[in-house]
Amino acid sequence: MTRELVVLGTASAVPTRHRNHNGYLLLWDGQGFLFDPGEGTQRQMTMAGMSAHDVTWICVTHFHGDHCLGVPGVVQRIARDKVAHAVQAAYPASGEEFWERLRHATAFADTSVIIPRPASGEVVRWPAGPVTLTARPLSHPVESYGYRLDEPDGRRMLPEELARRGVHGPMIGELQRQGSVTLADGTAVRLEECSVPRPGQSAAFVMDTRLCDGVFALAEGVDLLVIESTFLSDEAALAQEYGHLTAAQAGQVARDCGVRRLVLTHFSERYSFADEPRFVEEAAKAFDSEIVAARDLIRVPVPRRSTLSDTEIAKPGNAASTC
Ligand SMILES: [Zn+2]
Ligand SMILES: [Zn+2]
Repeated sequence: MTRELVVLGTASAVPTRHRNHNGYLLLWDGQGFLFDPGEGTQRQMTMAGMSAHDVTWICVTHFHGDHCLGVPGVVQRIARDKVAHAVQAAYPASGEEFWERLRHATAFADTSVIIPRPASGEVVRWPAGPVTLTARPLSHPVESYGYRLDEPDGRRMLPEELARRGVHGPMIGELQRQGSVTLADGTAVRLEECSVPRPGQSAAFVMDTRLCDGVFALAEGVDLLVIESTFLSDEAALAQEYGHLTAAQAGQVARDCGVRRLVLTHFSERYSFADEPRFVEEAAKAFDSEIVAARDLIRVPVPRRSTLSDTEIAKPGNAASTC
């Protein structure tokens, strides 16, 4: 199953020749979480080989244009392509008026598959298939919510232990479902004897915001953190004033929260590609694991855990198994 981030756009307020407005499609085991579709997202999806059918959730952090002006195009494409599955749409409830305008921006043959999920309060959780989507408020001039995806904890089966105890075929599924199986000779085998805990994977999407409790709660222990870093440290005062983060602050969040892979994005138009190393360098002063400065149309896998023991996985900040 695929778990990776498809980056559609990486510019903040003003797109550039090299950066489209925001847009991020997180593919997760057959679901597609489309975060902050800015202007041009529909075409960027085409460029990335993605279709309207890949979207199962639309998650808008806030109603500044660079995070939502792509909603009309995406919604109308979902309708035009006759997407049959439900597409949930999460956004700050306080922006309902903006959502309604974007949702019904122009004349088109509408669809009934879009299900609004307005968020309000300190924490909102929605089931999203086997995973949970959580929204928490951030700190920005207009109300903004960040999002987090969590897979439930499970257990990793140990083939050698199964074989040693004579558990095979359909009995393995039975053991996983029921927690124990009884062999033909009457011996009971418990799940704990043949498996080890496997912590669920998680990813967080944080923008636009100053540092606040919501940032840390969303990023805590995630495998993949996608976070805005609009400015470098020399513009820290500007970042604070306009409700944004610097790359250095993004690195501090990743360090403090034990993140495994950090993706920086939402760059101000004042910076060029030549400035990218400076963003990574600033974040790396605090965070010594993998840092990706996002570019349009790159793909960033959620780091795999298969090469780590579960003890190693549990260590905060461990990024030894990046793939
Ligand atoms: Zn923005
Ligand atoms: Zn904003």
